[in-house]
Amino acid sequence: MSKTLQAIRGMNDILPEQTPLWRYFEGTVAGLLDGYGYRQIRMPIVEFTDLFKRSIGEVTDIVEKEMYTFEDRNGDSLTLRPEGTAACVRAVLEHGLSGGGQVQKLWYMGPMFRHERPQKGRYRQFHQIGLEVFNLDGPDIDAELIVLTWRLWKLLGIRDAVTLELNSLGTSEARGRYREALVEFLTAHLDQIDEDSQRRLKTNPLRVLDTKHPETQAVLVNVPKLADYLDEESRVHFEGLKARLDAAGIPYVINPKLVRGLDYYSKTVFEWVTDKLGAQGTVCAGGRYDGLVEQMGGKPTPGVGFAMGIERLILLLETLEQVPESIARQVDVYLCAFGEQAELAGLTLAERLRDQVPGLRLMVNAGAGSFKSQFKKADKSGALYALILGDDELAQQVVGFKPLRGQGEQQNIAWSALADHLATCVVQG
Ligand code: ATP
Ligand code: MG
Repeated sequence: MSKTLQAIRGMNDILPEQTPLWRYFEGTVAGLLDGYGYRQIRMPIVEFTDLFKRSIGEVTDIVEKEMYTFEDRNGDSLTLRPEGTAACVRAVLEHGLSGGGQVQKLWYMGPMFRHERPQKGRYRQFHQIGLEVFNLDGPDIDAELIVLTWRLWKLLGIRDAVTLELNSLGTSEARGRYREALVEFLTAHLDQIDEDSQRRLKTNPLRVLDTKHPETQAVLVNVPKLADYLDEESRVHFEGLKARLDAAGIPYVINPKLVRGLDYYSKTVFEWVTDKLGAQGTVCAGGRYDGLVEQMGGKPTPGVGFAMGIERLILLLETLEQVPESIARQVDVYLCAFGEQAELAGLTLAERLRDQVPGLRLMVNAGAGSFKSQFKKADKSGALYALILGDDELAQQVVGFKPLRGQGEQQNIAWSALADHLATCVVQG
């Protein structure tokens, strides 16, 4: 017996019941970003493996154990993108988009791939919407990124369920000084910290701050604070950001342990977290990466950005019952035709209505069928109204206009008046 075909674990189909919510979400974000002057960029899903090693950092979880890497037929090592920033920076450099200090405000959307343990809110193919801004180094743009997400949470009706966590990582010099103090502290407590943290102590000590291990967390209560090692420039930048968030009325908590998983961050880092989704509570995360472009071979170019996880935000919309009712209905009107002459007339009528009523969602019955079976299909389509075309209607040049959701009686409407009627009761109503 042949094995049933299956999708790869952690890689999900998004079924037709779900796509209206995805399109609502993506459309809401796209409209918001248009309103702030951000422009969309689309990068390939596959890049040279080296790109991610150089940008994300060799000793991060992503590069050490999460990448989908393979050799193509030329023997090149390629990787399915685990995140968007690296490819975005690569594209910006390749096409000279940041040359001469040009400001770029970009966004992208699409699938990312990480070989993680699949669970609620954590998948192997997941989707992000990301923003990246180049050549602006002030806290005003950091604030704008946060302000626009704050507006997004309001549009989506989830503002009360998310909290902003903020930290500053300082410049790489400041972080270097802090790293020494941290290593000294952790080395002194080596026997009290978990194995993973012991390993990270050697490779990427800052990540220990991020540990989920309770015993290590207990040790970290007395850990030296990154804030005490901040350089003056980063301190002023951070104060500038906080002042703007205060002015905009956006609440935040300073989380000194927030270090983010990727190597390339500097100064501002932030996460929007929720307690409504269990362990996978970060719905949006980002920060400043002033050294990244140079590290990738470009001129020194300040950068700042973030990415949000679409699956987690969609889960949050569902959990909080913030899925707008209007998106569930995908068909307004269902046209039933009985007999060959009526079918032919129905086809031309439907096409004329599509010309005359922009935005009309009209499904024409296919596959003929009895009264009973066509009405059943009309009902199942979710349509508000059925249009009925049989020999009698044909002779009188009318359609039967039948409300399917209990909004009044069936009536006959002349073909010539139908477009106006639909425009008022379906498209506007
Ligand atoms: P986490 O700590 O949850 O692993 P991360 O720091 O690895 O997150 P980022 O690389 O910053 O995540 O990605 C930005 C956002 O993308 C996350 O905040 C989350 O919403 C989403 N995300 C990351 N990894 C996954 C995944 N495997 N499945 C679903 N969403 C994800
Ligand atoms: Mg992760």
